[in-house]
Amino acid sequence: MILMHLIRKERMNVSLIFSFAVGIFAATQLAAQSPSPILIKAGRLLDPRSGNVLSSAAVLIENGKIKEVGPVSQVQPHVPAGAKTIDLGSATLLPGLIDSHTHLLIDPIAPAEAERARHYNGSFAPALLLAIVESPSKRVFLGEQMAREDLESGITTVRNLGHSGIDGDTELRDAINAGRTVGPRILASARKLITRSSYVQSLNPALAEAILQQEFLLIDGADRARQAVRENEFQNVDVIKVTADENLTVPELVAVVEEAHRAHLKVAVHAVDKHSIQTAIDAGADSIEHGNEATDAQLKQMRDKGIFFDFTPTSYGDFFTKIFEGTIAMSLKLRPERLGSDKRTKQRYSDLAQQLLKGAPFPDASAEPYDRQYDNLVQRVMKSGVKFAAGSDMGWFYPGKTRGQASVSRFPTLHEAGMPSLDVIRAITTNAAEMLGWQDRIGSIEAGKFADLIAVAGDPVADISELERVRFVMKDGKVIRNDFQEKDSK
Ligand SMILES: [Zn+2]
Repeated sequence: MILMHLIRKERMNVSLIFSFAVGIFAATQLAAQSPSPILIKAGRLLDPRSGNVLSSAAVLIENGKIKEVGPVSQVQPHVPAGAKTIDLGSATLLPGLIDSHTHLLIDPIAPAEAERARHYNGSFAPALLLAIVESPSKRVFLGEQMAREDLESGITTVRNLGHSGIDGDTELRDAINAGRTVGPRILASARKLITRSSYVQSLNPALAEAILQQEFLLIDGADRARQAVRENEFQNVDVIKVTADENLTVPELVAVVEEAHRAHLKVAVHAVDKHSIQTAIDAGADSIEHGNEATDAQLKQMRDKGIFFDFTPTSYGDFFTKIFEGTIAMSLKLRPERLGSDKRTKQRYSDLAQQLLKGAPFPDASAEPYDRQYDNLVQRVMKSGVKFAAGSDMGWFYPGKTRGQASVSRFPTLHEAGMPSLDVIRAITTNAAEMLGWQDRIGSIEAGKFADLIAVAGDPVADISELERVRFVMKDGKVIRNDFQEKDSK
Protein backbone atom coordinates (compact mmCIF):
# COMPACT_ATOMS: atom_id res chain seq x y z
CA MET A 1 0.00 0.00 0.00
CA ILE A 2 2.73 2.34 1.00
CA LEU A 3 4.65 1.26 -2.07
CA MET A 4 1.62 1.94 -4.34
CA HIS A 5 1.24 5.33 -2.75
CA LEU A 6 4.87 6.11 -3.37
CA ILE A 7 4.63 5.02 -6.99
CA ARG A 8 1.53 7.11 -7.53
CA LYS A 9 3.20 10.09 -5.89
CA GLU A 10 6.24 9.57 -8.08
CA ARG A 11 4.07 9.45 -11.23
CA MET A 12 2.33 12.62 -10.22
CA ASN A 13 5.64 14.33 -9.72
CA VAL A 14 6.87 13.09 -13.09
CA SER A 15 3.76 14.33 -14.82
CA LEU A 16 3.96 17.62 -12.96
CA ILE A 17 7.59 18.01 -13.97
CA PHE A 18 6.66 17.03 -17.51
CA SER A 19 3.89 19.60 -17.82
CA PHE A 20 6.11 22.21 -16.21
CA ALA A 21 8.82 21.40 -18.74
CA VAL A 22 6.35 21.63 -21.62
CA GLY A 23 5.27 25.00 -20.27
CA ILE A 24 8.85 26.25 -20.16
CA PHE A 25 9.51 24.87 -23.62
CA ALA A 26 6.44 26.62 -25.03
CA ALA A 27 7.38 29.89 -23.33
CA THR A 28 10.92 29.63 -24.69
CA GLN A 29 9.55 28.96 -28.14
CA LEU A 30 7.31 32.02 -27.85
CA ALA A 31 10.22 34.15 -26.77
CA ALA A 32 12.53 32.75 -29.41
CA GLN A 33 10.37 33.48 -32.39
CA SER A 34 7.73 35.98 -33.25
CA PRO A 35 4.58 33.83 -33.30
CA SER A 36 2.47 35.84 -35.72
CA PRO A 37 3.69 37.00 -39.13
CA ILE A 38 4.22 40.74 -39.55
CA LEU A 39 3.47 42.94 -42.54
CA ILE A 40 5.42 46.19 -42.67
CA LYS A 41 4.15 48.91 -44.99
CA ALA A 42 6.18 52.01 -45.86
CA GLY A 43 5.99 54.79 -48.45
CA ARG A 44 9.43 53.90 -49.82
CA LEU A 45 11.96 51.06 -49.67
CA LEU A 46 15.57 51.61 -50.77
CA ASP A 47 17.59 48.78 -52.28
CA PRO A 48 21.18 49.95 -51.69
CA ARG A 49 22.65 47.56 -54.24
CA SER A 50 20.71 48.90 -57.23
CA GLY A 51 19.74 52.25 -55.78
CA ASN A 52 16.14 51.48 -56.79
CA VAL A 53 13.34 52.81 -54.64
CA LEU A 54 10.15 50.82 -54.33
CA SER A 55 7.11 52.99 -53.67
CA SER A 56 4.26 51.84 -51.48
CA ALA A 57 6.38 48.96 -50.23
CA ALA A 58 5.44 45.92 -48.19
CA VAL A 59 7.68 43.44 -46.37
CA LEU A 60 6.20 40.20 -45.06
CA ILE A 61 8.06 38.71 -42.10
CA GLU A 62 7.70 35.19 -40.70
CA ASN A 63 9.76 33.60 -37.92
CA GLY A 64 12.26 36.46 -37.88
CA LYS A 65 13.01 36.24 -41.58
CA ILE A 66 11.89 38.14 -44.65
CA LYS A 67 9.35 36.08 -46.58
CA GLU A 68 8.40 38.47 -49.36
CA VAL A 69 9.15 42.03 -50.52
CA GLY A 70 7.20 44.01 -53.09
CA PRO A 71 4.50 46.60 -53.69
CA VAL A 72 1.67 46.39 -51.14
CA SER A 73 -0.76 45.24 -53.87
CA GLN A 74 1.50 42.28 -54.71
CA VAL A 75 2.33 41.14 -51.15
CA GLN A 76 -1.09 41.72 -49.52
CA PRO A 77 -2.80 38.62 -51.01
CA HIS A 78 -0.11 36.36 -49.43
CA VAL A 79 -0.45 37.75 -45.91
CA PRO A 80 -1.67 34.95 -43.64
CA ALA A 81 -4.67 35.44 -41.35
CA GLY A 82 -3.70 36.82 -37.95
CA ALA A 83 -0.69 38.73 -39.25
CA LYS A 84 0.14 41.96 -37.50
CA THR A 85 0.50 45.10 -39.64
CA ILE A 86 3.00 47.88 -38.90
CA ASP A 87 2.28 50.91 -41.05
CA LEU A 88 5.22 53.33 -41.21
CA GLY A 89 3.37 55.87 -43.36
CA SER A 90 5.63 57.73 -45.77
CA ALA A 91 8.89 56.55 -44.16
CA THR A 92 11.81 55.05 -46.10
CA LEU A 93 12.76 51.48 -45.22
CA LEU A 94 16.40 50.39 -45.39
CA PRO A 95 18.28 47.28 -44.39
CA GLY A 96 19.63 47.38 -40.82
CA LEU A 97 23.02 49.11 -40.67
CA ILE A 98 26.27 47.14 -40.33
CA ASP A 99 29.10 48.74 -38.35
CA SER A 100 32.01 46.65 -39.56
CA HIS A 101 34.60 48.04 -37.15
CA THR A 102 33.76 48.80 -33.56
CA HIS A 103 34.88 48.27 -29.95
CA LEU A 104 31.89 47.68 -27.68
CA LEU A 105 33.82 46.85 -24.52
CA ILE A 106 35.80 50.02 -24.11
CA ASP A 107 34.96 53.73 -23.71
CA PRO A 108 38.14 55.69 -22.98
CA ILE A 109 38.15 59.30 -21.90
CA ALA A 110 41.09 61.22 -23.27
CA PRO A 111 43.57 61.98 -20.47
CA ALA A 112 44.11 65.56 -19.39
CA GLU A 113 46.87 67.42 -21.22
CA ALA A 114 49.08 67.63 -18.14
CA GLU A 115 48.68 63.91 -17.55
CA ARG A 116 49.57 63.09 -21.14
CA ALA A 117 52.69 65.19 -20.95
CA ARG A 118 53.91 63.57 -17.71
CA HIS A 119 52.90 59.99 -18.17
CA TYR A 120 52.80 57.68 -21.15
CA ASN A 121 51.72 54.02 -21.14
CA GLY A 122 50.75 53.70 -24.80
CA SER A 123 47.50 54.13 -26.71
CA PHE A 124 44.14 54.82 -25.03
CA ALA A 125 45.84 54.89 -21.63
CA PRO A 126 44.92 55.03 -18.84
CA ALA A 127 41.41 53.89 -19.88
CA LEU A 128 42.59 50.79 -21.74
CA LEU A 129 44.81 49.72 -18.85
CA LEU A 130 41.99 50.21 -16.37
CA ALA A 131 39.62 48.22 -18.55
CA ILE A 132 42.13 45.35 -18.68
CA VAL A 133 42.82 45.22 -14.96
CA GLU A 134 39.29 45.78 -13.72
CA SER A 135 36.72 43.01 -13.41
CA PRO A 136 35.77 41.42 -16.76
CA SER A 137 32.20 41.22 -15.43
CA LYS A 138 32.11 44.99 -15.03
CA ARG A 139 33.44 45.37 -18.53
CA VAL A 140 30.87 43.10 -20.12
CA PHE A 141 28.09 45.24 -18.62
CA LEU A 142 29.62 48.23 -20.41
CA GLY A 143 29.59 46.19 -23.62
CA GLU A 144 25.97 45.27 -23.04
CA GLN A 145 25.02 48.96 -22.79
CA MET A 146 27.06 49.96 -25.87
CA ALA A 147 25.52 47.09 -27.83
CA ARG A 148 21.97 48.09 -26.90
CA GLU A 149 22.64 51.74 -27.75
CA ASP A 150 24.08 50.78 -31.15
CA LEU A 151 20.98 48.72 -31.91
CA GLU A 152 18.65 51.55 -30.86
CA SER A 153 20.36 53.80 -33.42
CA GLY A 154 19.78 51.32 -36.25
CA ILE A 155 22.98 49.25 -36.17
CA THR A 156 21.69 45.69 -36.34
CA THR A 157 25.08 44.03 -36.91
CA VAL A 158 28.56 44.90 -35.66
CA ARG A 159 31.97 43.40 -36.19
CA ASN A 160 33.78 43.86 -32.89
CA LEU A 161 37.50 44.03 -33.59
CA GLY A 162 39.28 43.73 -30.26
CA HIS A 163 39.60 45.50 -26.90
CA SER A 164 37.17 43.19 -25.17
CA GLY A 165 39.33 41.05 -22.89
CA ILE A 166 39.67 37.33 -23.45
CA ASP A 167 36.03 36.48 -24.07
CA GLY A 168 34.01 39.66 -23.53
CA ASP A 169 32.70 39.99 -27.06
CA THR A 170 32.18 36.27 -27.73
CA GLU A 171 30.18 35.98 -24.48
CA LEU A 172 28.19 39.15 -25.24
CA ARG A 173 27.41 37.74 -28.70
CA ASP A 174 26.21 34.48 -27.20
CA ALA A 175 24.11 36.22 -24.54
CA ILE A 176 22.39 38.31 -27.22
CA ASN A 177 21.83 35.27 -29.43
CA ALA A 178 20.36 33.39 -26.46
CA GLY A 179 17.91 36.23 -25.79
CA ARG A 180 19.44 37.07 -22.39
CA THR A 181 20.04 40.67 -23.44
CA VAL A 182 19.29 42.92 -26.40
CA GLY A 183 21.87 44.01 -28.95
CA PRO A 184 22.98 43.76 -32.55
CA ARG A 185 24.33 40.61 -34.17
CA ILE A 186 27.98 40.49 -33.21
CA LEU A 187 30.85 39.08 -35.19
CA ALA A 188 33.41 38.75 -32.44
CA SER A 189 37.19 38.66 -32.77
CA ALA A 190 38.11 38.11 -29.10
CA ARG A 191 41.74 39.08 -28.55
CA LYS A 192 43.63 41.22 -31.06
CA LEU A 193 46.86 39.73 -32.44
CA ILE A 194 49.66 42.26 -32.02
CA THR A 195 53.42 42.60 -31.94
CA ARG A 196 54.87 43.67 -28.61
CA SER A 197 54.41 47.32 -27.64
CA SER A 198 51.67 48.05 -30.17
CA TYR A 199 49.30 49.30 -27.47
CA VAL A 200 50.18 49.30 -23.79
CA GLN A 201 53.79 49.99 -22.84
CA SER A 202 56.13 50.60 -19.91
CA LEU A 203 54.31 48.36 -17.45
CA ASN A 204 55.61 46.87 -14.25
CA PRO A 205 57.81 44.05 -15.65
CA ALA A 206 56.57 41.66 -12.97
CA LEU A 207 52.96 42.08 -14.13
CA ALA A 208 53.35 43.00 -17.79
CA GLU A 209 52.84 39.53 -19.33
CA ALA A 210 49.74 38.84 -17.25
CA ILE A 211 48.23 42.21 -18.15
CA LEU A 212 48.98 41.86 -21.87
CA GLN A 213 47.51 38.36 -21.98
CA GLN A 214 44.16 39.65 -20.77
CA GLU A 215 43.73 41.78 -23.88
CA PHE A 216 46.13 40.65 -26.63
CA LEU A 217 47.76 37.65 -28.22
CA LEU A 218 51.37 38.38 -29.04
CA ILE A 219 52.79 37.43 -32.42
CA ASP A 220 56.44 36.53 -32.17
CA GLY A 221 57.37 34.30 -35.09
CA ALA A 222 55.13 32.25 -37.39
CA ASP A 223 54.54 29.41 -34.91
CA ARG A 224 53.29 31.73 -32.21
CA ALA A 225 51.11 33.47 -34.81
CA ARG A 226 49.41 30.16 -35.69
CA GLN A 227 48.99 29.38 -32.02
CA ALA A 228 47.33 32.74 -31.44
CA VAL A 229 44.74 32.01 -34.13
CA ARG A 230 44.05 28.62 -32.54
CA GLU A 231 43.56 30.21 -29.13
CA ASN A 232 40.95 32.52 -30.60
CA GLU A 233 39.39 29.58 -32.43
CA PHE A 234 38.96 27.89 -29.05
CA GLN A 235 37.07 31.02 -28.00
CA ASN A 236 34.78 30.47 -30.98
CA VAL A 237 35.52 33.74 -32.75
CA ASP A 238 33.91 34.84 -36.04
CA VAL A 239 36.90 36.79 -37.36
CA ILE A 240 40.61 37.28 -36.63
CA LYS A 241 41.88 40.81 -35.98
CA VAL A 242 45.57 41.61 -36.40
CA THR A 243 47.36 44.91 -35.91
CA ALA A 244 50.11 45.30 -38.51
CA ASP A 245 52.98 47.66 -37.77
CA GLU A 246 56.65 47.97 -38.68
CA ASN A 247 57.46 44.94 -36.50
CA LEU A 248 55.05 42.50 -38.13
CA THR A 249 56.64 40.42 -40.89
CA VAL A 250 54.97 39.01 -43.99
CA PRO A 251 55.73 35.36 -42.98
CA GLU A 252 54.10 35.97 -39.58
CA LEU A 253 50.98 37.42 -41.15
CA VAL A 254 50.91 34.67 -43.82
CA ALA A 255 50.88 32.13 -40.95
CA VAL A 256 47.89 33.95 -39.39
CA VAL A 257 46.01 34.08 -42.69
CA GLU A 258 46.66 30.41 -43.51
CA GLU A 259 45.62 29.23 -40.07
CA ALA A 260 42.50 31.45 -40.06
CA HIS A 261 41.42 30.46 -43.55
CA ARG A 262 41.88 26.81 -42.65
CA ALA A 263 39.25 27.47 -39.94
CA HIS A 264 37.07 29.44 -42.43
CA LEU A 265 37.73 32.71 -40.60
CA LYS A 266 38.43 36.00 -42.33
CA VAL A 267 41.37 38.18 -41.29
CA ALA A 268 40.89 41.91 -40.70
CA VAL A 269 44.19 43.77 -40.55
CA HIS A 270 44.64 47.16 -38.92
CA ALA A 271 47.13 48.92 -41.22
CA VAL A 272 47.65 52.66 -41.36
CA ASP A 273 51.08 53.34 -42.87
CA LYS A 274 52.31 52.25 -46.31
CA HIS A 275 54.64 49.57 -44.97
CA SER A 276 51.92 47.85 -42.91
CA ILE A 277 49.42 48.12 -45.76
CA GLN A 278 51.92 46.35 -48.03
CA THR A 279 52.46 43.61 -45.42
CA ALA A 280 48.67 43.07 -45.28
CA ILE A 281 48.39 42.95 -49.08
CA ASP A 282 51.35 40.57 -49.50
CA ALA A 283 50.05 38.23 -46.80
CA GLY A 284 46.58 38.06 -48.38
CA ALA A 285 44.47 39.76 -45.68
CA ASP A 286 40.70 39.81 -46.29
CA SER A 287 40.24 43.44 -45.29
CA ILE A 288 42.48 46.36 -44.49
CA GLU A 289 41.16 48.52 -41.66
CA HIS A 290 41.83 52.31 -41.76
CA GLY A 291 44.30 52.22 -44.72
CA ASN A 292 45.01 55.95 -44.35
CA GLU A 293 48.27 55.98 -46.29
CA ALA A 294 47.30 53.60 -49.11
CA THR A 295 48.89 54.58 -52.42
CA ASP A 296 47.15 54.24 -55.78
CA ALA A 297 49.41 51.27 -56.61
CA GLN A 298 48.39 49.57 -53.35
CA LEU A 299 44.68 50.20 -54.00
CA LYS A 300 45.12 48.54 -57.39
CA GLN A 301 46.79 45.51 -55.77
CA MET A 302 43.93 45.32 -53.25
CA ARG A 303 41.38 45.45 -56.05
CA ASP A 304 43.17 42.71 -58.00
CA LYS A 305 43.39 40.47 -54.91
CA GLY A 306 39.79 41.20 -53.81
CA ILE A 307 40.90 42.73 -50.48
CA PHE A 308 38.31 45.03 -48.92
CA PHE A 309 39.16 48.60 -47.88
CA ASP A 310 37.38 49.36 -44.60
CA PHE A 311 37.09 53.11 -44.06
CA THR A 312 37.08 54.30 -40.44
CA PRO A 313 36.12 58.00 -40.57
CA THR A 314 36.28 58.32 -36.79
CA SER A 315 38.27 61.45 -36.17
CA TYR A 316 37.02 63.63 -39.01
CA GLY A 317 35.37 66.97 -38.51
CA ASP A 318 35.36 68.20 -34.92
CA PHE A 319 35.00 64.75 -33.31
CA PHE A 320 37.91 64.98 -30.86
CA THR A 321 37.28 68.61 -29.99
CA LYS A 322 33.75 67.61 -28.97
CA ILE A 323 35.08 64.75 -26.86
CA PHE A 324 37.78 66.88 -25.25
CA GLU A 325 35.33 69.70 -24.53
CA GLY A 326 33.09 67.38 -22.59
CA THR A 327 35.76 65.47 -20.69
CA ILE A 328 38.87 67.56 -20.06
CA ALA A 329 39.68 71.19 -19.40
CA MET A 330 41.56 72.37 -22.47
CA SER A 331 44.43 74.76 -21.92
CA LEU A 332 44.65 78.14 -23.59
CA LYS A 333 47.16 76.52 -25.93
CA LEU A 334 45.22 73.38 -26.86
CA ARG A 335 41.82 74.93 -27.49
CA PRO A 336 42.82 77.24 -30.37
CA GLU A 337 45.00 74.46 -31.80
CA ARG A 338 42.04 72.08 -31.93
CA LEU A 339 39.61 74.62 -33.34
CA GLY A 340 42.10 75.71 -36.00
CA SER A 341 42.70 72.16 -37.10
CA ASP A 342 38.94 71.39 -37.22
CA LYS A 343 38.33 74.45 -39.35
CA ARG A 344 41.10 73.68 -41.83
CA THR A 345 40.04 70.05 -42.18
CA LYS A 346 36.38 70.91 -42.63
CA GLN A 347 37.07 73.62 -45.14
CA ARG A 348 39.32 71.36 -47.10
CA TYR A 349 36.81 68.55 -47.08
CA SER A 350 33.86 70.48 -48.30
CA ASP A 351 35.67 72.62 -50.86
CA LEU A 352 37.60 69.75 -52.34
CA ALA A 353 34.67 67.35 -52.17
CA GLN A 354 32.48 69.76 -54.10
CA GLN A 355 35.17 70.27 -56.74
CA LEU A 356 35.78 66.54 -57.09
CA LEU A 357 32.08 65.74 -57.32
CA LYS A 358 32.00 68.18 -60.23
CA GLY A 359 34.83 66.23 -61.88
CA ALA A 360 37.87 68.33 -60.95
CA PRO A 361 41.25 66.50 -61.17
CA PHE A 362 42.65 64.81 -58.07
CA PRO A 363 45.21 66.79 -56.11
CA ASP A 364 48.70 65.36 -55.69
CA ALA A 365 48.43 62.91 -52.79
CA SER A 366 52.06 63.25 -51.80
CA ALA A 367 51.69 66.98 -51.20
CA GLU A 368 49.86 66.59 -47.89
CA PRO A 369 50.48 64.61 -44.71
CA TYR A 370 48.15 61.61 -44.59
CA ASP A 371 45.76 62.94 -41.99
CA ARG A 372 44.83 65.74 -44.34
CA GLN A 373 44.42 63.42 -47.30
CA TYR A 374 41.25 61.79 -46.16
CA ASP A 375 39.03 63.48 -48.70
CA ASN A 376 41.52 62.56 -51.32
CA LEU A 377 41.61 58.98 -50.04
CA VAL A 378 37.84 58.61 -50.32
CA GLN A 379 38.02 59.73 -53.92
CA ARG A 380 41.01 57.55 -54.78
CA VAL A 381 39.41 54.45 -53.22
CA MET A 382 36.19 55.10 -55.14
CA LYS A 383 38.09 55.60 -58.38
CA SER A 384 40.34 52.54 -57.91
CA GLY A 385 37.46 50.07 -58.04
CA VAL A 386 38.59 48.39 -54.80
CA LYS A 387 35.76 46.90 -52.75
CA PHE A 388 35.01 49.08 -49.73
CA ALA A 389 32.97 49.17 -46.54
CA ALA A 390 32.97 51.44 -43.48
CA GLY A 391 33.11 51.12 -39.73
CA SER A 392 32.82 53.73 -37.00
CA ASP A 393 35.88 52.46 -35.06
CA MET A 394 33.94 53.83 -32.12
CA GLY A 395 35.32 53.15 -28.69
CA TRP A 396 35.24 56.58 -27.13
CA PHE A 397 33.18 58.07 -24.39
CA TYR A 398 31.27 60.86 -26.14
CA PRO A 399 29.52 63.16 -23.67
CA GLY A 400 25.93 63.89 -24.65
CA LYS A 401 25.63 61.10 -27.22
CA THR A 402 24.73 57.46 -26.80
CA ARG A 403 27.22 55.00 -28.27
CA GLY A 404 24.80 54.43 -31.14
CA GLN A 405 24.48 58.14 -31.88
CA ALA A 406 28.27 58.55 -31.78
CA SER A 407 28.79 55.54 -34.08
CA VAL A 408 26.23 56.53 -36.68
CA SER A 409 27.45 60.15 -36.71
CA ARG A 410 30.68 58.95 -38.37
CA PHE A 411 29.13 57.73 -41.61
CA PRO A 412 27.84 61.02 -43.09
CA THR A 413 31.43 62.37 -42.86
CA LEU A 414 32.29 60.08 -45.78
CA HIS A 415 29.80 62.06 -47.84
CA GLU A 416 31.39 65.31 -46.65
CA ALA A 417 34.64 63.87 -48.02
CA GLY A 418 33.02 63.36 -51.41
CA MET A 419 31.44 59.89 -51.33
CA PRO A 420 27.98 59.84 -52.96
CA SER A 421 25.23 59.14 -50.39
CA LEU A 422 24.21 55.88 -52.00
CA ASP A 423 27.79 54.59 -51.73
CA VAL A 424 27.89 55.59 -48.05
CA ILE A 425 24.74 53.52 -47.52
CA ARG A 426 26.26 50.60 -49.48
CA ALA A 427 29.40 50.81 -47.34
CA ILE A 428 27.32 50.03 -44.23
CA THR A 429 24.83 47.58 -45.76
CA THR A 430 25.43 45.48 -48.89
CA ASN A 431 29.22 46.02 -49.15
CA ALA A 432 29.75 45.42 -45.43
CA ALA A 433 27.70 42.20 -45.58
CA GLU A 434 29.96 40.94 -48.36
CA MET A 435 33.11 41.90 -46.45
CA LEU A 436 31.84 39.93 -43.45
CA GLY A 437 30.93 36.97 -45.66
CA TRP A 438 27.31 37.28 -44.49
CA GLN A 439 25.81 38.51 -47.77
CA ASP A 440 23.34 35.59 -47.69
CA ARG A 441 21.97 36.71 -44.29
CA ILE A 442 22.08 40.51 -43.94
CA GLY A 443 22.71 43.78 -45.79
CA SER A 444 19.59 43.99 -47.95
CA ILE A 445 15.82 43.57 -47.71
CA GLU A 446 15.37 40.35 -49.63
CA ALA A 447 13.40 37.13 -49.14
CA GLY A 448 15.29 34.62 -47.00
CA LYS A 449 17.37 37.18 -45.09
CA PHE A 450 17.05 38.08 -41.42
CA ALA A 451 14.32 40.63 -40.76
CA ASP A 452 16.78 43.38 -39.78
CA LEU A 453 15.21 46.65 -40.97
CA ILE A 454 15.32 50.33 -40.16
CA ALA A 455 13.28 53.31 -41.30
CA VAL A 456 13.88 57.04 -41.51
CA ALA A 457 11.33 59.80 -42.09
CA GLY A 458 12.97 61.39 -45.14
CA ASP A 459 15.08 60.37 -48.13
CA PRO A 460 18.57 59.26 -47.00
CA VAL A 461 19.98 59.55 -50.52
CA ALA A 462 18.97 63.22 -50.71
CA ASP A 463 20.07 63.85 -47.11
CA ILE A 464 22.54 61.34 -45.69
CA SER A 465 22.16 62.83 -42.19
CA GLU A 466 18.79 61.00 -42.08
CA LEU A 467 20.90 58.03 -40.93
CA GLU A 468 21.45 59.91 -37.67
CA ARG A 469 17.68 60.03 -37.16
CA VAL A 470 16.65 56.39 -37.43
CA ARG A 471 13.09 56.13 -36.11
CA PHE A 472 12.23 52.49 -36.58
CA VAL A 473 14.46 49.51 -35.81
CA MET A 474 13.62 45.84 -36.20
CA LYS A 475 16.02 42.98 -35.57
CA ASP A 476 15.14 39.34 -36.14
CA GLY A 477 11.54 40.38 -36.79
CA LYS A 478 11.25 42.03 -33.37
CA VAL A 479 10.54 45.74 -33.06
CA ILE A 480 13.29 47.46 -31.05
CA ARG A 481 12.05 50.97 -31.64
CA ASN A 482 9.14 52.61 -33.45
CA ASP A 483 8.95 56.40 -33.06
CA PHE A 484 6.44 56.61 -35.91
CA GLN A 485 3.92 54.74 -33.80
CA GLU A 486 4.54 57.07 -30.85
CA LYS A 487 3.79 60.05 -33.05
CA ASP A 488 0.63 58.45 -34.44
CA SER A 489 -0.79 57.65 -31.00
CA LYS A 490 -0.36 61.21 -29.72
ZN1 LIG B 1 39.67 49.89 -34.18
